[in-house]
Amino acid sequence: MGAWRTIRVMTDFASLGLDPALLSALTALGYEEPTAIQVEAIPPLLAGSDVLGQAATGTGKTAAFALPMLNRIGKRVEGQRGIRGLILVPTRELAMQVAEAVHKYGRVLDVHVLPIFGGQSLSVQFRALRRGVDVVVATPGRALDHLRRESLDLRNVEFLVLDEADEMLDMGFAEDLEAIVAALPKVRQTALFSATIAPRVRTLAKRYLTKPVSVTIANETAAPGKKPRVREVAYVVQRAHKAAALARIIDMEAPTSAIIFCRTRTEVDELTQTLGGRGYQAEAIHGGLSQEQRDRVLKRFREGTSELLVATDVAARGLDIDHLSHVFNFDVPSSPDAYVHRIGRTGRAGREGVAITLAEARERRLLHNIEMHTKRKIPVQNVPTVHDLRARRLERTQEMLTEVLEAQEFGAFRPLVESLAVSHDIFDIAAAAISMLDRSRDDDDVVDISSVPQSQSSFGGGSGPGPGKPRGNFAPLADATKIWLGIGRMDSVRPADIVGAIANEARISSRDIGAIDIADRFSLVEVPQSLAEGIITAMRGASIRGKKVTIRHDRGPKKRTERES
Ligand code: AMP
Repeated sequence: MGAWRTIRVMTDFASLGLDPALLSALTALGYEEPTAIQVEAIPPLLAGSDVLGQAATGTGKTAAFALPMLNRIGKRVEGQRGIRGLILVPTRELAMQVAEAVHKYGRVLDVHVLPIFGGQSLSVQFRALRRGVDVVVATPGRALDHLRRESLDLRNVEFLVLDEADEMLDMGFAEDLEAIVAALPKVRQTALFSATIAPRVRTLAKRYLTKPVSVTIANETAAPGKKPRVREVAYVVQRAHKAAALARIIDMEAPTSAIIFCRTRTEVDELTQTLGGRGYQAEAIHGGLSQEQRDRVLKRFREGTSELLVATDVAARGLDIDHLSHVFNFDVPSSPDAYVHRIGRTGRAGREGVAITLAEARERRLLHNIEMHTKRKIPVQNVPTVHDLRARRLERTQEMLTEVLEAQEFGAFRPLVESLAVSHDIFDIAAAAISMLDRSRDDDDVVDISSVPQSQSSFGGGSGPGPGKPRGNFAPLADATKIWLGIGRMDSVRPADIVGAIANEARISSRDIGAIDIADRFSLVEVPQSLAEGIITAMRGASIRGKKVTIRHDRGPKKRTERES
């Protein structure tokens, strides 16, 4: 066994000791290797130890505690009742997010998970709790509420997680935590995760953890080596607008060859498709490709047929590619080390490179950790506005025109201009011609990604807003009507696919597209009455996600056929 294999085995999910069912779930999700905090925290948790973990959002901490918890709970046994895992989190957003993650990882084991938080109807929660769940993800206030009403039985809990403990303390949950933990069995496993291990957090850990193993990834020291000649920039963008923001940034930066890093295989595939749909020459490369496919992708990239390579860390590791003009991080890398590795691919051989990172507001702490590690500030910039792009486009048009003028290659068109000049101003003719050139480039379709509020452009603590909802930002349409599209959830269609297709085919702005309802076999899209006919005509024969779709006016629920509904 060579050195290479030893290293691989050490960082494999399989080598961490997880149940094969969970491993297959991770593969299906497109996870290729554990993040640093997972490598550190999973083995001691699997061995039954308590863990005190220092990790911020974006490091992969949720899987670091959820996987060992699921591993311990194991496959659901019918008839078995009782909550065996309890995860306490500070906010409702986090409760939903963590519950979704546990559900995703635990589906193979048929583990039932329930988020409970304030603001949601109690009776709905009563019913769900009565049906029986294995894991509860709760905010402390609501968990205590249920305990007092005796609708939450915590006597069978084997595994407790206190997630974002510093935030819970900041929000004044210390007493609630005390009361909840008092209702748990004394013999249990406990994990406490926190972005900072302040003295208060340490006190909490002393109270609730037994001989904990401490794990952290925040204090890595910088690897020795030459400082790269890289311009580093970050943009803070809502999740839902990331692809659009990336497209704008690519347009502004005009990279000659670039790698775009994503976390998972699934993300790589999705982003490659989205970029392709927007007209970029992007190719996916990840661990799911055969050697032959990989070679082909790389050949096209080296020859310049494709200019963007969308990759996971694992896939990029073995790549022998020099002269990248840009490295894009579609997500903040899960550790400072991963960041340094990624951006080390640009700025080689004496050329200047550019490293661009997209971050969600809640990942700013992670960016800050990277800055501490590299001892370099990563300035946060505003996503280029439509106005910036237009200015850039005009600049390019001017360059192109200057070239044509200098080459004197337009003689054949002079007679046309002369005949137009009989009845039009010569400047108007020139401007009209240029406007035709420009019209072929569509305006961007995202309304509000262009500015980063001041509060987001400086680093600091605090958890930002929750995950963005797709299509959450359209204005309600006045004279709206619905059109029916024969593509739905079963075709894995997403709102963005539909908006993209309609905006492209019908050459309208996505702002004119209203609410989108995706059912299993069809979707309903709200559009202005005045545009509906044009959209239906333009979309005839068009395909979405590779499927030719039928499109027509919606006939209302009664007239939809059984098969459609
Ligand atoms: P978290 O820090 O738990 O909020 O996780 C941040 C993001 O990383 C989530 O979107 C996870 O789905 C993703 N993630 C967690 N672990 C991995 C991994 N080993 N490989 C790829 N993505 C991961």
